[in-house]
Amino acid sequence: MNRLIKGTCTDISSEGKGVVKNNKDIIFCDGLFPGETADIEILYSRAGVYFGKVRKLYNLSKDRIEPRCKVCSVCGGCQYQQLKYEAQLVYKTKRVKDALNRIAHIKDIKVNDCIGMDDPYNYRNKIQMPFGKDKKGRVVYGFYKENSHEIIPVKECHIEDKRAASILWDIKELIREFNISIYNEDTGKGILRYVLIRTSYHYPELMVVLVTSNFNFPGQRNFINALLKKHPEITTIVENVNSRHTNVILGEKESVLYGSGFIKDSILGLTFEISASSFYQVNPIQVEKLYQKALDLVDPKEDKLVLDAYSGVGTIGLIASKNAEHVISVELNKNAHKNAINNAKLNKISNIEFFNDDAGKFISGYDKKLDVVIMDPPRKGSDKTFLQTLIDKKIKKIIYVSCDPETLARDIEYLLPYYSLEYIQPVDMFPMSNHVETVVSLRLKERL
Ligand code: SAH
Repeated sequence: MNRLIKGTCTDISSEGKGVVKNNKDIIFCDGLFPGETADIEILYSRAGVYFGKVRKLYNLSKDRIEPRCKVCSVCGGCQYQQLKYEAQLVYKTKRVKDALNRIAHIKDIKVNDCIGMDDPYNYRNKIQMPFGKDKKGRVVYGFYKENSHEIIPVKECHIEDKRAASILWDIKELIREFNISIYNEDTGKGILRYVLIRTSYHYPELMVVLVTSNFNFPGQRNFINALLKKHPEITTIVENVNSRHTNVILGEKESVLYGSGFIKDSILGLTFEISASSFYQVNPIQVEKLYQKALDLVDPKEDKLVLDAYSGVGTIGLIASKNAEHVISVELNKNAHKNAINNAKLNKISNIEFFNDDAGKFISGYDKKLDVVIMDPPRKGSDKTFLQTLIDKKIKKIIYVSCDPETLARDIEYLLPYYSLEYIQPVDMFPMSNHVETVVSLRLKERL
């Protein structure tokens, strides 16, 4: 194929890239939307498809808008900042439908419209920024450019909680003032690697996590006092040490430098403690809509014993326990499991039991009759052991909460010979990105 081609975008891929067909070739292109024609430079090919970049745009989609963020086309975090929000929702619904069609081979299925936000900006309650140096040696923070380790400086990210921007800016100023060294990925020298901020939506609480390469942070006390003076809204500060050469942000060791080491937030009337490393849904407004849709599928009359699998800090199970007779929760991560037990105490809930185990291993060895299984696995989806056990045990109803339509469709395909798919509801937990969360329910077919 030529290095430069002219083509028209006909669709959006599951990764949020514009799809252009050129004879038999398929080209994926960032920031190009259906209906738009462009000159595209072909950058590389992988697995039989091409990836390109817009060089000249001939016409604009009616759904295109001026993005609030000036670096959205290089940062890679927000594939859809340049699209009207209504159009984003349409593409998210379509992504779920396409995945079920393509991967699970389900045709003509009703997928409800994706539930959006009234104000789709400044929702994220977890902000994590790498710190580094630019070519001139100045301290910068921001996002890694897609597929690289170059930091794109970002002063204000429009999807994050508004409180984060000025704290990050002042941390950068204090780093200069206190002469704190920045970690260098190549040499492994230097102290500060990342700053993570977690905000509470319902309580006036905010956590700052300083991710460092070791515990020898010179002048740490003075640095923290100066930060707290500028930002009294910070209620706790944690140091997390990550000495490994890795992309994973947080390390294993932690020390609480100020406050309790956690913040509280609430979902549908229950309170949860969140520590630096806990998994917690990033959109505090949409999570209530998501969980409500999942819980509406639990029938208090017939669903007496509920399993909450992949339960994190226990959020879904604890909320479900208000309507169920008894809930069993299973989670692999030790810290999340401990948080979950604590969260039950905090909310004075006693009709729930927590198990720290692999979900598949646990359910295959569990001998009581479960009425409904709610499952919310990570992006890679569930596994054969877990799914096969659902089939073998003839679980009547499955409520699957998924953050990845493609792995959801793969798992549904596995269940389909035995289950009918009854309900599919996408919820937009991540406005401006191509990601979408989905709640589905499946019911065991009678004849079995
Ligand atoms: N339901 C929770 C957490 C969902 S995230 C919420 O909405 O907040 C998915 C969770 O699955 C994570 O907490 C992760 O630690 C857990 N997990 C990953 N693999 C697992 C496995 N094999 N067995 C059990 N839990 C697992």
